[in-house]
Amino acid sequence: MIRTRLRYHRPRSLTETSEILLAHHGNVAVLGGGTQLLPRMGRHVTEVENVVDLKDLGLAGIGTVGGAIEIGARVTYADVLDSALLRAQLPLLPRMAQGVTGGRQLTQQATLVGAACFAFPSADARGALAALGAVVEIHGPDGLRSVPLTAFLVDAFAVDLRAGEFVRAMRMTPQRTGGYCKVKHSTGSWPIVTASAVRDDARGVRVTLGAVQAVPVIVQLDDPHDPAELKMRVDAAITAPWSDVLAPGEYRAAIAAAVARRAVNELLGV
Ligand SMILES: Cc1cc2nc3c(=O)[nH]c(=O)nc-3n(C[C@H](O)[C@H](O)[C@H](O)COP(=O)(O)OP(=O)(O)OC[C@H]3O[C@@H](n4cnc5c(N)ncnc54)[C@H](O)[C@@H]3O)c2cc1C
Repeated sequence: MIRTRLRYHRPRSLTETSEILLAHHGNVAVLGGGTQLLPRMGRHVTEVENVVDLKDLGLAGIGTVGGAIEIGARVTYADVLDSALLRAQLPLLPRMAQGVTGGRQLTQQATLVGAACFAFPSADARGALAALGAVVEIHGPDGLRSVPLTAFLVDAFAVDLRAGEFVRAMRMTPQRTGGYCKVKHSTGSWPIVTASAVRDDARGVRVTLGAVQAVPVIVQLDDPHDPAELKMRVDAAITAPWSDVLAPGEYRAAIAAAVARRAVNELLGV
């Protein structure tokens, strides 16, 4: 139960949202789907007296902007699964969303942007979004700024958001193929390692590993068919493995190459 006296804000414009966030800086949280925020408020892990709901800002859409795919801050996993545009242009996202647990209640509520902002290392979405080169569109008191997701994710549970700022949307260029694989303890548990593979026009294949470090780890493969190159590059890239109650870092590091191999095989269709 949330016992704190709460003020619920429902701004009607981006500017008003940033004004509220700035006015209550340090004592305010943006409400996405609330699937992490509200339980944490109930457990007093997050203690704020102001919650800002983005519902009236028109950020629930998936569309194209200047050749890029834009996913609004209120787009849920269910929206991703239902989107014909994403199935055609960014199939890695629905592929990833298929494996998110929690049932319809969770997938209809939780947002991709919320997953990025929560910045839990083990989340599915962060690695897949990083693999797709997602750019985070941030609105703040000075207007809009864009940051690559890989820079936005500063550390475990830490993102590059300043006073008065919130994420309006994320943008990605179309990637019509992709491979995804994850290892987890059971159907309902968080991933221990995720791997997202996409083609990289310049250099072959790019694999992004999630849940192995505090932030996603990106590995370039010149020859994606070469298992020795994949293992060597994955092992070299993991320098500070992430440990928590689910698995020690050494275990995550030890299985990362095998998970990456499966994602690459899915991408290559072998
Ligand atoms: C039962 C259950 C099963 C789950 N299974 C999985 C799973 O299999 N894989 C997986 O990866 N995850 C899983 N999750 C986690 C889920 O993906 C995240 O809870 C969700 O993506 C977070 O999104 P949200 O919209 O609910 O965020 P919220 O809880 O609303 O917000 C999370 C954090 O991000 C901030 N925030 C949200 N939106 C913005 C914004 N636009 N701008 C700035 N800050 C913002 C909030 O202030 C808060 O700090 C599960 C969760 C539950 C409860």
